[in-house]
Amino acid sequence: MLERLREGGVRDPRVLAAMAAVPREAFVQPADQLDAYVDRALPIGHNQTISQPLMVAIIVEALELRDGDHALDVGTGSGYQAAVMAACGAHVVSLERIPELAAGAAERLGALGLDVEVLTGDGSLGAPERAPFDAIAVGAAAPRLPLALARQLREGGRLVVPIGGGYQGEELTRLRLTGGTWITESLGPCRFVPLIGADAYDATG
Ligand code: SAH
Repeated sequence: MLERLREGGVRDPRVLAAMAAVPREAFVQPADQLDAYVDRALPIGHNQTISQPLMVAIIVEALELRDGDHALDVGTGSGYQAAVMAACGAHVVSLERIPELAAGAAERLGALGLDVEVLTGDGSLGAPERAPFDAIAVGAAAPRLPLALARQLREGGRLVVPIGGGYQGEELTRLRLTGGTWITESLGPCRFVPLIGADAYDATG
């Protein structure tokens, strides 16, 4: 898997070490154990998927995490991306809208002793009571820039979120708060399940 990540352009040694350290097999369903290190998304129930390892590594690399960073992960799912963020040295708060997934992830992350607090709620609104954050990652596709999340960044903070949708898929976007100004850049195409919430897609599709 690490070879594939390097081929995919992931360079940051901290991210590669974190990807090597987190056992992805603990985050996939029993039937998919043999595919745990294949570079693809896998089902985790409730119509959701654990993201493809390369995508997780690209997102986490783009967050530029440092030891002790206060980070928010939106769309806990299996908890895998939150685990990789914690393995990079961040204190992670992770938000999931489906209570059963949040509970499963919390149990898994706890068993691995990772510094992640899992909360149930609508991540499109962020976690205002925990803001500001050094880094925010969104593991689902937003229809537009989630403003509440951008507003919860600390000066110098980074928000990485797939934006767009429709048949073209999404554009992975990084926003950085620099000198009080938001600077956005595109990190390339990607494909994610939809972010569903008050400032996102609605549940009825
Ligand atoms: N990062 C996850 C990927 C999960 S897929 C992993 O590594 O496994 C995206 C997740 O986002 C799904 O679990 C979905 O339920 C969740 N989600 C969608 N909209 C959300 C919202 N508004 N707030 C919180 N979670 C949301």
